[in-house]
Amino acid sequence: MAEVAVPAEPRCGFVAIVGAPNVGKSTLLNQMVGAKVSIVSPKVQTTRTRVLGILAEGAAQLIFVDTPGIFRPRRRLDRAMVAAAWSGATDADRVLLVVDAARGVDDDTAGILERLQETGRKADLVLNKVDLVKPPVLLALTERLTAAGRFENVFMVSALTGDGVRDVVRNLAQAVPEGIWLYPADQLTDVADRFLAAEITREQLFRQLHEELPYATAVETEGWQERRDGSLRIEQVVYVERSSQRSIVLGKGGAQVKAIGAAARHELEAIFECRVHLFLFVKVKKKWAEERGFYRDLGLDYDV
Ligand code: GDP
Ligand code: MG
Repeated sequence: MAEVAVPAEPRCGFVAIVGAPNVGKSTLLNQMVGAKVSIVSPKVQTTRTRVLGILAEGAAQLIFVDTPGIFRPRRRLDRAMVAAAWSGATDADRVLLVVDAARGVDDDTAGILERLQETGRKADLVLNKVDLVKPPVLLALTERLTAAGRFENVFMVSALTGDGVRDVVRNLAQAVPEGIWLYPADQLTDVADRFLAAEITREQLFRQLHEELPYATAVETEGWQERRDGSLRIEQVVYVERSSQRSIVLGKGGAQVKAIGAAARHELEAIFECRVHLFLFVKVKKKWAEERGFYRDLGLDYDV
């Protein structure tokens, strides 16, 4: 990794990315930070915790807070996620509200706009997925949104292609307050490698099992060993709630878990740039979603 010198007049700030599920928050974050720090998935609500991505842009260090989708909470886990998302947003120096230009203002986005008004929080509007809509549609949507909310800036981007994303980054770098960098200059992300590795496997679980697996499935990295030959030995436990789910994950003769492991390993090798030996264990752990310790580990508040 290239050395990054700390500038003489540094700026530093937290940037919260908020928006309805599936609008492209994670894609945008990854595009800005340039490293895979958060799950990108066609399914909703796979981002379960706040993940920080860190970017040095000129004299500024931008610390991104990727919030879980701000949606209407029902279950306890959902409520905890929403609370975490909003506390992240209100603590941040800048807030990016991401809206899916193709979907427009749905109930979730309307709700977020309302909350922004209530809290008096100013935000930047990021109209994403402009690759999917025609200019007149974009214009009408922009007018509607700027009438509804108080936005300091409006950006039109495609997080997928990267179109317009540099403008957002450059603007943020100017907008965050003066202050010393909070993270070492060469630190791309403070997401622990173990956590990242678990997320990679979890993504594969959802990819390969689709609707068969409930969101109440967790992956924990339990073993991590850098070996003398330069390879990495990673042991992970996949927690499911019922033995029937365990059978689904394992598949016939273990074929399914083998395929999941192979795909995850492939991706891990690309990320860590070394050979990876990945060992997956599937365990049944009843009702883990209601366990206090689990919430604490995620940095979420159980008593919401
Ligand atoms: P999040 O739930 O807000 O974090 O959304 P994701 O980043 O997971 O993206 C949801 C889906 O939208 C994924 O399938 C992305 O590939 C897709 N997506 C994100 N940004 C764009 C974009 O600019 N254009 C298009 N066409 N698709 C996008
Ligand atoms: Mg996401």
